[in-house]
Amino acid sequence: MTVTIATLGFPRIGPRRELKFALERYWSGKSSEADLLESAAGLRTAAWARQRALGTDWLPSNDFSLYDHVLDTSMMLGAIPERYASADGDATLATYFAMARGSTGDGAADCGHAHTRGGGETALEMTKWFDTNYHYMVPELVAGQRLALGSAKIVEDYREAKAQGFETRPVLLGPVTWLSLVKGRDVDPFDFLDQVVGLYGAVLSQLSAAGAEWVQIDEPCLVLDLSYRQRHAIAQAYARLSRYGVKLMLTTYFGGLEDNLPFALTLPVAGLHVDLVRAPEQLGAVLAEAPKSLLLSLGVIDGRNIWRADLPALLDLLEPIAATRDLILAPSCSLLHTPIDLALETGLDPEVAQWLAFAVQKIEELGILKRALNDGRDSVAKPLAASARAAANRRTSRLIHDAAVAARIAAVTPDLLQRRSAHAPRRAEQQARLALPLFPTTTIGSFPQTAEVRQARSQHGKGLLDDAAYDAFLREETERAIRWQEDVGLDMLVHGEFERNDMVQYFGEQLAGFAFTRQGWVQSYGSRCVRPPILYGDVSRPKPMTVDWWRFAQELTIRPVKGMLTGPVTILNWSFVRDDQPRSASCRQIALAIRDEVADLEAAGAKAIQIDEAALREGLPLRRKDWQHYLDWAVECFRLSAAGVADATQIHTHMCYSEFNDILTSIGAMDADVISIETARSQMELLAGFASYRYPADIGPGVYDIHAPRVPGIDEMVDLMRLARTHLDADQLWVNPDCGLKTRNWAEVRPAIEAMVAAARQLRAEA
Ligand code: GLN
Ligand code: ZN
Repeated sequence: MTVTIATLGFPRIGPRRELKFALERYWSGKSSEADLLESAAGLRTAAWARQRALGTDWLPSNDFSLYDHVLDTSMMLGAIPERYASADGDATLATYFAMARGSTGDGAADCGHAHTRGGGETALEMTKWFDTNYHYMVPELVAGQRLALGSAKIVEDYREAKAQGFETRPVLLGPVTWLSLVKGRDVDPFDFLDQVVGLYGAVLSQLSAAGAEWVQIDEPCLVLDLSYRQRHAIAQAYARLSRYGVKLMLTTYFGGLEDNLPFALTLPVAGLHVDLVRAPEQLGAVLAEAPKSLLLSLGVIDGRNIWRADLPALLDLLEPIAATRDLILAPSCSLLHTPIDLALETGLDPEVAQWLAFAVQKIEELGILKRALNDGRDSVAKPLAASARAAANRRTSRLIHDAAVAARIAAVTPDLLQRRSAHAPRRAEQQARLALPLFPTTTIGSFPQTAEVRQARSQHGKGLLDDAAYDAFLREETERAIRWQEDVGLDMLVHGEFERNDMVQYFGEQLAGFAFTRQGWVQSYGSRCVRPPILYGDVSRPKPMTVDWWRFAQELTIRPVKGMLTGPVTILNWSFVRDDQPRSASCRQIALAIRDEVADLEAAGAKAIQIDEAALREGLPLRRKDWQHYLDWAVECFRLSAAGVADATQIHTHMCYSEFNDILTSIGAMDADVISIETARSQMELLAGFASYRYPADIGPGVYDIHAPRVPGIDEMVDLMRLARTHLDADQLWVNPDCGLKTRNWAEVRPAIEAMVAAARQLRAEA
């Protein structure tokens, strides 16, 4: 029996973010379309050559994308909303980027949900790809729309590879997952099933004619709770798609097939890929039920995280299987979600570095497993021993295991999760102490990160600006922001977050247990890449992180300045986290560190402290049945971070999304005193949910959509707050924007916040 290896997809951005820079040069008019396409082709060739050199048997093609693979699929199907269609009906690169970025592309905030952008035609909506931090462009369909074969990219990429001597297995996003991601405007996307499957059939026959033997067809929707309609669509689609002369490797990832497994095994496909990192427990059932004629691809190397595998332990599992059937070994999912090459990291502590594997190292690991299974462990004795040593070191390393943290976690008792009093008495004390007017005004925390702010930070990072000069610069910015907030008449101020690069990184850099990479970029969307912190060890807080900046700001004004923190769940969800303990355990440690910071802010005199949980909702598991468990520990961690304060200290939280109805009980259980949320775009509809739930605390429903450069008028904001009033009591309401202002510029922020304050005054006068 033979074992081969596949990668399912390789990161697109290039080892030094070459794609980002090529795109940005093109968008700014500094390079031509031909230049961009040439850079892209160079990246593809380099990726194929590299994967082959690493021993990959099943090279992917069409995993590359200039922006997003879901958008590519929409282009393939000709699913181009009318507003982007060109006069001659041709879908050009301009059409593609208009859908991706709007026709005058404008930056977006990093809240991780749909963004609208201003000027010209807005971009398609963007949202997170399953439970990753990668964003895809949401396809749209309207009633009566005609689909037609559009971009032939998948066939061209296959041919391009072949011409260079690379035989590939093209990657195609499956029809049912694509349809499941579509936003239907007055239409059920599944009404298009027939048309869509017909077009997929045409693509498959073109691939077959070009010489492709296999196609990797990704249907991650198979790890979700499927509706009857989805199941039926899958059965219908695959009955048809099996007839085009190419073998299909049905690829599932991000979870287990669970109840969908028997159904998946009835589909007429030639192979099945399963994710054994997220769902190792499905292996037994897969082996027992999959017919021998089905080629199995086992996702045994973590495609979603950066840890090196324990190869000898994996071999114990794989050897008996490989003795009875041919196998493909692969990462759990495409390597898109990992940084490219650990060898580029020269600044990491070598002890930490030896525990890690990025995309290149993961393929090496697959190669070692392959050789061990095909030629015996002795053929790779050395790398196996190294893998075992690293795993053993990680189990006991003093860098990871901190007895003081363990003792503190063991000593957490339920009373630490509990504020001293119930909400009502707290509220009375806070109101007496803060003496705010009705409809108090505030902002979410950050002010514009202007070019000067970013330049100063980058110069400081490069050593071109010394600590003292950088500090002086930040003080000036902060002082100016405080003065401006006083002048404009805001009631509760913020220091502006000028010193922060990113709301998670800023804290990670100051906490023990986190490491940072130099080149560990992962695509977030299009040209935008992030370097997630690596949470490798027990977390503690060596010293206060935000108190100095808060104090500096508060000493400038008699108005209250909010302490500003990122919450434990958000820090966890936006990092690469440990796989040697449950996520909840890591989160609890972060929560204790934040709790210390909250205590120090309170001791320094902060009357209000905001703990942002921007990513709480997006951490929800893919399957409904797993939601409650997650919500329970997430809420517990928030409470652990927040509940140590006196009744008179007001705890704020902020969440930048608007879907709350299905998690309202948990939002209530967080027991914050004030929550600010996104509502400007949904006409306050979601407040009905808060009202019927009888949410007791204060709410700041965002009246100003910070994702668009548009400056809202006073009347508009008054109208929104009047709508809010129909759901909630006047003395429950705050007036604020719907997220931080860091992606906007001062020319937009000044008039918008002035209008917001004027709106609040008008509301007070009416009350
Ligand atoms: N306090 C952060 C800010 O204002 C919150 C950002 C967010 O929720 N994404 O930028
Ligand atoms: Zn936000």
